[in-house]
Amino acid sequence: MDKKYENMSVVLEGVSKTYDDEVALKTVDLELEKGKFYTLLGPSGCGKTTILNIIAGFVEPSSGNVYINGENVNDLPANKRKVNTVFQNYSLFPHMNVYDNIAFGLNIKKVDKKTIDVEVKKALKMVNLEGFEKRKISQMSGGQRQRVAIARAIVNRPDVLLLDEPLSALDLKLRKSMQVLLSNLQWELGITFIFVTHDQEEALALSDEIFVMDKGEIVQSGSPVDIYDEPINRYVAEFIGESNILEAVMVDDYKVKFSNKVFDCEDAGIPSGERVEVVIRPEDITVASPENSDINMRVDNVLFRGVFNELICYDDDNFRWKIHTTRRFYEDQVIGIDIDPSDIHVMRFNESEDDFDKRIEKYAIGDDDE
Ligand code: ADP
Ligand code: MG
Repeated sequence: MDKKYENMSVVLEGVSKTYDDEVALKTVDLELEKGKFYTLLGPSGCGKTTILNIIAGFVEPSSGNVYINGENVNDLPANKRKVNTVFQNYSLFPHMNVYDNIAFGLNIKKVDKKTIDVEVKKALKMVNLEGFEKRKISQMSGGQRQRVAIARAIVNRPDVLLLDEPLSALDLKLRKSMQVLLSNLQWELGITFIFVTHDQEEALALSDEIFVMDKGEIVQSGSPVDIYDEPINRYVAEFIGESNILEAVMVDDYKVKFSNKVFDCEDAGIPSGERVEVVIRPEDITVASPENSDINMRVDNVLFRGVFNELICYDDDNFRWKIHTTRRFYEDQVIGIDIDPSDIHVMRFNESEDDFDKRIEKYAIGDDDE
């Protein structure tokens, strides 16, 4: 056993995948701890399913090593890995009832009938489907089918559960309740979940750690708060949540210029004069009176979004601002804005995640020990 990964759940070391001459995955390195909820987030075709399939053993990587529980599993077939997958399309046996679908894996392993019965009932309870044993799959709704598929996976007591866009086929309301179920389930089972989605809200709501992917690569990893607050580049900023992204110039450490004004910020370690981009989240902007504001703008549109109003505004440069506020404003009203330095997030062009981490760490915001 490789000592350095002994306590890790899943490790990918320099894993890549090429089909003919199409690169599905560039070099991916991942170290996943036991018992956490991880999410791979990215648009269709970025390589999410390929990563899951490599961990499950359905796809052989073109290069690299895969470790599960510290053991190199490169040569271990899928059915010997303590990993189960839940697919978007459920992949249930339509001609079997709920009980037989869930018991299938244990039957193959020749587990005795009594144990199977106990385990199937336990799994059904965990997905809130007690009493549905005899029900045919064809008589069940999408949400119920997905719960059967989850029960069928967890009945095998895997160490790692892979979930490939399991909620994408469900309507919004059902998806929300399934998110709660998954979150509780992961907590109860205490095993590693690797969840795949292209839905940023889902990723933010569920994950301990998110891996944002783009074109076969992990471009940023971190907690939902980290990724939301400090996106490494425009791609991540636009993919996660809503944002105002402005062209800017670094004037000095902690000083950045955009909209013809110099603002205080919390970023340092970037050469003066470097062109950067600045991200400001719509909910981080406070509307102020135009008299004592650095930037004035005209409200073009007000959209009622339930708990807040969304203002679409244009400043003198004709830049389109998005602002979320609980207060009321009117079309054509001229307003000012107030932005806290900690809400101005500077992004460098083509900064690697390593360099980004070092910079953020070095100039960590809110260091209490000074
Ligand atoms: P995602 O799950 O993020 O939508 P995938 O991992 O399924 O993405 O696919 C990543 C890339 O690899 C895509 O460009 C896809 O076309 C390609 N790909 C996946 N599987 C195969 C295959 N069996 N043969 C050829 N290309 C594939
Ligand atoms: Mg996929």
